[in-house]
Amino acid sequence: MNQYFHVEKEILLASEKALELCRESFEYIDDVRSYNQLKMLKAFQNARISESMFGGSSGYGYGDRGRDALDEVYSFVFDAEDALVRHNFVSGTHALTVALFAVLRPGDTMLSVTGIPYDTIRGTIGIGSNYSGSLKDFGVNYEEVALLPDGTLDYSKIEADISSKKPKMVYIQRSRGYELRPSLRYDEIKKICEISKRVSPDSVIMLDNCYGEFVEYKTPHTCGVDLMAGSMIKNPGGGIARTGGYISGRADLVEQAAFRLTTPGTGKELGATLDMTRELFMGAYNAPQITAAALKTAVFSAALFELLGYGVTPNYKEKRGDIIQVIELGGERELVEFCRGIQGAAPVDSFVSPEPSDMPGYDCKVVMASGSFSLGSSIELSADAPIREPYAVWFQGAHNFDSGKLGIMLAADRVSKLK
Ligand SMILES: *Cc1c(COP(=O)(O)O)cnc(C)c1O
Repeated sequence: MNQYFHVEKEILLASEKALELCRESFEYIDDVRSYNQLKMLKAFQNARISESMFGGSSGYGYGDRGRDALDEVYSFVFDAEDALVRHNFVSGTHALTVALFAVLRPGDTMLSVTGIPYDTIRGTIGIGSNYSGSLKDFGVNYEEVALLPDGTLDYSKIEADISSKKPKMVYIQRSRGYELRPSLRYDEIKKICEISKRVSPDSVIMLDNCYGEFVEYKTPHTCGVDLMAGSMIKNPGGGIARTGGYISGRADLVEQAAFRLTTPGTGKELGATLDMTRELFMGAYNAPQITAAALKTAVFSAALFELLGYGVTPNYKEKRGDIIQVIELGGERELVEFCRGIQGAAPVDSFVSPEPSDMPGYDCKVVMASGSFSLGSSIELSADAPIREPYAVWFQGAHNFDSGKLGIMLAADRVSKLK
C-alpha cells in the first residue's frame, strides 16, 4: 500500500472494495463535516475571537475574556442558550455528574429512558454500589425504562412512565456505551422530547451526548433537550484538548451547573484557565474534522470486516448517532490481534503490544489499544475488548482517516492470519 507499512495482498484488495462500498456514506459524512465546520467558523467570528484571548488567567480567574468567549462559541455550535466549557471537568462523567446534581434535589426522580446508563455514571446515581455522596445517598430516586430486546426505544412505556411519574428529570443516553444497542439519532431524541414535553412539560430533559457531537447536522437543543454534557477528550475537544468537559443548554440550568461546579453565587465568574484556552479553541475548531475522520474510519472498518465475514454493528450503510463501531470477532486471539493492529498504527506507543488484563469495574479480562497524545483520549484511535461473549471489540476515533484506515487494515491483516 505504501513503502512504510505492509499488509497482505488479500487485505489490500478487500480494502479497495470496502472503500468503494463506503462512497455514499463518506459523501454524507463530508457534507455534515463541511456544514459543521462552517458553523464553527461562524461561531468564532460571532464571538470575535482574537489572539489576545488565548493568554489565560490565574488565581480566581476573574474577567477572563477567553473563557467567556469559549462558552459563547459552544453555545452557538450547540444551539444552546449558554454553555460551560472548562478544563476543570476531570472527565465526561464529572461533567454529567455536575449536571445531574445541578438539577436533582432530595425526593426528586430521575427517569432514564434508554435503559441502564453507561458504566461510570452508575456510581454517581447509586446503581449497584452506594458510594457516599451518590444521588441515592442524597435521597434522589432512580428509575429506568428498559430498551426493547433489539436495543431500540420502548416509546409506549416511555410515554406511560413519564406521564405517571412526572419525573424531575428525563435522562437520555445517545451513545451505545459498551452495549450492542444502536446509538440514538436526532429524530429519536426528538421523539422522546416531544413525548416528554407533551405529557410532563416540567420535566427537565437531560442528554448524555458523549461521542455524539458533530456527527449530525442538527443538535439536540433544537428538539427540546434542556441540558447536555460531554467530554473534551472525545469529539468536541478535537483531539487537541488535553482534558475537560462541557455542559450546555437552558441558561438557568447551565447557571445551576456552574453553581455546582464552583460555588453558589460565583458560578461561571470564577475559574482560572491557566494555559488551556488556546488549545480548547483549537480543539473546537478541529472538532468537525476529527469527528468526520473517526466516522470514516468506523464506516470503513464496518465495510472491510463485513467483507471478511464478521458481524459488525452498525453496518457501513447505516446512519449513525455516534462514532463507535463494534466488530464481533468471535474469540480471544482475534480480539488481541485486532488490538495489536490498531496499536501498530498509533503515533504514540506504537511499539507496545496489548495484552489482556484485569480491569477495575470488569468481571473479565480486557484487552485495549491506545496510542494517544492525551491519556485515555477516545477521539484518537483506540479500542477496548472485554474477553467474554460475544467476543466483540468496541473501537472509535482517529486523528485522520489515513492513519485510522491503516489501523483497521493492520488489524484485519493480523486477524486474518489466525485463520
Ligand atoms: C465516555 C462516556 C461517558 C463519560 O466517560 P468519561 O470516561 O468519564 O469521560 C459517559 N457516557 C458515555 C455513553 C460515554 O461514552
